Amino acid sequence: MQSIVLKDKSFVPYITAETISEQVKVIAQKINSDLVNETPLFLVVLNGSFMFAADLLKEVTIPCEISFIKLASYYGTTSSGVVTEMIGLTEDVKGRTVVIIEDIVDTGVTLEKLVTLLTKKEVKQVKVASFLLKPDAYKKNIIVDYVGIKIPNDFVVGYGLDYDGLGRNMKEIFVLNTK
Ligand code: 5GP
Repeated sequence: MQSIVLKDKSFVPYITAETISEQVKVIAQKINSDLVNETPLFLVVLNGSFMFAADLLKEVTIPCEISFIKLASYYGTTSSGVVTEMIGLTEDVKGRTVVIIEDIVDTGVTLEKLVTLLTKKEVKQVKVASFLLKPDAYKKNIIVDYVGIKIPNDFVVGYGLDYDGLGRNMKEIFVLNTK
């Protein structure tokens, strides 16, 4: 794996496509056994989760539905960083098992807000699958049921994750070169 440059920053290889693929399969197997008696609705949080979701859901063998949402984080015209709204959820989720698919959970602010929004819609239960988790940054109590890889507090790109819009297409994960 070669280092990459995105705009003004360089990123070094961090997690290979093979490791990603192995971890995705492990998560899928757990979901297949845990939720065998459910018909879950997988809720893919765009944009970053598209690649993880596509790989994961190809390995999910239980009956399921899949939908996509975006989160808005605007207060007036300025981004507040606080998620205020869920865009695109057209399904009636009342009484359903919903599995949130996230690319990365960092502080958990986004996840907490999303879980709150879903709880208000009277779901039966919410499960969370995130490919990456930063345990040192995570400040919330919501259990992340399925985690691919735990990473330190570093900025990563690739496998759906971007830097200023770039890098989402990489099949490996890279970390910001701070040297
Ligand atoms: P939160 O802090 O709410 O858990 O994470 C918010 C969002 O920040 C994530 O969904 C993701 O879009 C972005 N984010 C957090 N850590 C990283 C990172 O290391 N790399 C990239 N590209 N985005 C990140």
